[in-house]
Amino acid sequence: MPDVRVRFAPSPTGNLHVGSARTAIFNWLFARHLGGKFILRIEDTDRERSKDEYTRSIMDGMRWLGMEWDEGPDAGGECGPYFQAQRLELYRAAAARLVGDGHAYACFCSTERLDAMREKQEAEGKQTRYDGLCRGIDPAEARRRIAQGDRHVIRLKVDTTQVIEWNDLCKRVISITTELLDDLVLMKSDGFPMYNFAVVVDDSGMKVTHVVRGEDHISNTPKQILIYRALGLTPPELGHIPMILGTDRSKLSKRHGATNVIDYEKAGFLPEAFFNFIALLGWSPPDGSEIHSRDELVSLFTLDRVVAHGAVFDVEKLKWMNLQYIKQLAPEDLLALCEPFLREIPGYPGQYAQEELVELVALFRERLTVLTDITKAAWYFFNEPDSYDEKGLKTAQKTPDLAAVMTDLAADLEKLEGFTHDPIERTVRALAERRGIGAGKVIHPTRLAVSGRAEGPGLFELMHVLGRERCVARIRAFVEMQPWVVGSR
Ligand code: GLU
Repeated sequence: MPDVRVRFAPSPTGNLHVGSARTAIFNWLFARHLGGKFILRIEDTDRERSKDEYTRSIMDGMRWLGMEWDEGPDAGGECGPYFQAQRLELYRAAAARLVGDGHAYACFCSTERLDAMREKQEAEGKQTRYDGLCRGIDPAEARRRIAQGDRHVIRLKVDTTQVIEWNDLCKRVISITTELLDDLVLMKSDGFPMYNFAVVVDDSGMKVTHVVRGEDHISNTPKQILIYRALGLTPPELGHIPMILGTDRSKLSKRHGATNVIDYEKAGFLPEAFFNFIALLGWSPPDGSEIHSRDELVSLFTLDRVVAHGAVFDVEKLKWMNLQYIKQLAPEDLLALCEPFLREIPGYPGQYAQEELVELVALFRERLTVLTDITKAAWYFFNEPDSYDEKGLKTAQKTPDLAAVMTDLAADLEKLEGFTHDPIERTVRALAERRGIGAGKVIHPTRLAVSGRAEGPGLFELMHVLGRERCVARIRAFVEMQPWVVGSR
């Protein structure tokens, strides 16, 4: 097999879409698995919809996911330029060659003629197609008209009696007849190529060996194969991966939630988790296992394990996977990743030392499904509780003499030597014993008093991180306010 060369060819008409990211990931994994090259080509021939900001955003998204490209914008390479809008001469030359060889011709039909023809065909219930009128123009005459500046497109002569067949890398043999095709436009009158033509000129010019893309391109493939043949070239291997579906099994769209990679980055997903999750959309390793680093995926990835039918994007599964990755992070790394979201808390970082902040995020390591959760979760470390959980207050009512219990606790904590997990726990349990009540009857109201919440990380570690001063002050404020007494709120 020649050295593998694959490409990811996004159109910069939007941010990196989840579906495109999956195409990029499959190509990248395929290339890395086989030690081949991964090329990034920007398909920016749609001048109205293509924007530089989207090119940048797509490249940022790929870098966020850890996919560097071997050739392409910023990386350079022998087969550039890697922006289609900078390759117009190549398309024009290829089109001229096809015209010269008699495989293509200039078509001078006006839009009015084409519209009228289409309307008539539609009215007669016929397939709409170009009637081939300009095929009959003598080439010398066509050259003369072109020279005098007549508006024209270049069309490929298509034989509509063929069956185009290819052995798809992801789907076995696909065979499509050309009977519904007509003479394809290769070059538009503005000198820009049509998508199918540009792709063929570029894939061959960039020596692409395998084209792996979404199955929405299957209908383009026969057209591209016809163009390859006309150019006297052998098409690359072709693979079409199944569509990504929402949980209702319809095509993934905004209706199902965010469809741009950047939204998942902003929402606090880890790139490793997101990459892992996307890699499993329509592909799985032989043993069906799920959590894999990028390197493991590289060694496991083969196209023959791509499924034939749609893959469901389940955000709940993504969240679960993200949690698995967050759990594995070293607390220092977790703090660094949480930092932007902690900064959204007024009062952050307050008096806390760096080590304390590391301990703080570690409290939540098993509880964050996305990094952004930390903003809400850690709020009370930097701000006094401004309300108390209703359910928690109901539970607190069950502790007899709660005001006295909490007052004693504050006093005990104040005297405590070393405000760490074990001594705090001993204090709380000893108090419960003295009062002849279950430890929970002290623990629940204490959690409520110091955090305002009824749930959260282990209370004693939480109190240790909050620090003695805050804990004691909050318990005293709680006693003063007596929010558990009905009517006091
Ligand atoms: N530019 C095309 C797209 O964004 C991809 C073309 C291809 O992969 O052949 O859908």
